[in-house]
Amino acid sequence: MPISFSCPRCGKELKGPDHAVGQSSKGPECGTTVTCPEPMAKQARRRGPEAEDLSTGDLIVAVLCSGIGCIAGIVWMIQGKPKGMKMVGLSVVMVVPQMVFWYLVNMMTWHIQHPHGGGF
Ligand SMILES: [Zn+2]
Repeated sequence: MPISFSCPRCGKELKGPDHAVGQSSKGPECGTTVTCPEPMAKQARRRGPEAEDLSTGDLIVAVLCSGIGCIAGIVWMIQGKPKGMKMVGLSVVMVVPQMVFWYLVNMMTWHIQHPHGGGF
């Protein structure tokens, strides 16, 4: 869905693709640098905040269990919910600290269970 906004300098109505949000480009008329705003955010919120933004619960799922978060994100993407992409991205990012965390947990539990386990 293209985004309509007006040039702050000459007032000409401009349109940008929705992936251009936050990106700056030169206005075609006056050459001033315009940044594509996010006018769809309010409309999306009226349409349903569920589809647009990640809730606290979604974030917890993504952080604590990125496998489930990733699957949920893919399901949402199939359903056409914009938050699906965010969920997948967050889950992928969170995989690394989780692997480190579980590695450390395994190390600690191994040492507790094998206090004389040697030089591992
Ligand atoms: Zn302009």
